[in-house]
Amino acid sequence: MKEALDAGYAVLEKSGTATDAVTAAIKILEDSPLFNAGKGSVYNNEGQIEMDASIMEGKEMKAGAVAGVRRIKNPIEAAKLVMQQTPHVLLIGEGAEKLWTSKGYELTDTSYFYDERRFRQWKENRKNKTPEKHGTVGAVALDKYGNLAAGTSTGGMMDKMPGRVGDSPIIGAGTYACNQTCAVSCTGHGEYFIRYAAAHSVHCKMLYQNKELKDAVNEVLFKDLLPAGGTGGIIGIDKQGKCGNGFQHNRHVSRI
Ligand code: ASP
Repeated sequence: MKEALDAGYAVLEKSGTATDAVTAAIKILEDSPLFNAGKGSVYNNEGQIEMDASIMEGKEMKAGAVAGVRRIKNPIEAAKLVMQQTPHVLLIGEGAEKLWTSKGYELTDTSYFYDERRFRQWKENRKNKTPEKHGTVGAVALDKYGNLAAGTSTGGMMDKMPGRVGDSPIIGAGTYACNQTCAVSCTGHGEYFIRYAAAHSVHCKMLYQNKELKDAVNEVLFKDLLPAGGTGGIIGIDKQGKCGNGFQHNRHVSRI
């Protein structure tokens, strides 16, 4: 985590953009087997990985995302590519991988994503459903130009159906950024975050109800998602650089 934070911060210190800082931080987390993204992605119910990622910048509300990619080492880079080099927002599976190779990047063999610990976890989970784990990675940043950005990357929910797409690559659900309010990235039970448009809802509460980021985050987590049965967490930063994070996981509830 510290390595990721340092990588993002180093970009900002060198006058880099919030988008590049978010990407640098997320790449480190994607390369670690400890997190459910990139190298550490969880398996679907056929024992395959399918990764989702998205990025959004608050200045012009540009966004890019990929879903269901299997051979891209750093899906957050692919999401950035969609944002910066295509007229689209979300590309899935083969199309996303085609874009990746068309820009001269290599596909990574699926064996790279094999991780012994994850495999055992998956097997164990199939035998006796272990408690659901939120390991998605996200980063939010404010740069010296006053621009906000948010990014999210994930292997999704363990044992998901093939083709299932969660909230992480859905702009407004798992990721949102707007310079008028905040940049947020979510983790948790994606179906709920999609249904409640969680990330966009944080933005709306700030924009239309003048709520502080931390209050908006906690309202979404505790008033919208929790009663509906949706667990998870949100990290965010507002336009003044104030952070507002919240996390709730059944009995474990924390507000920051
Ligand atoms: N939100 C992710 C998804 O539903 C999973 C997670 O955060 O752990 O795909």
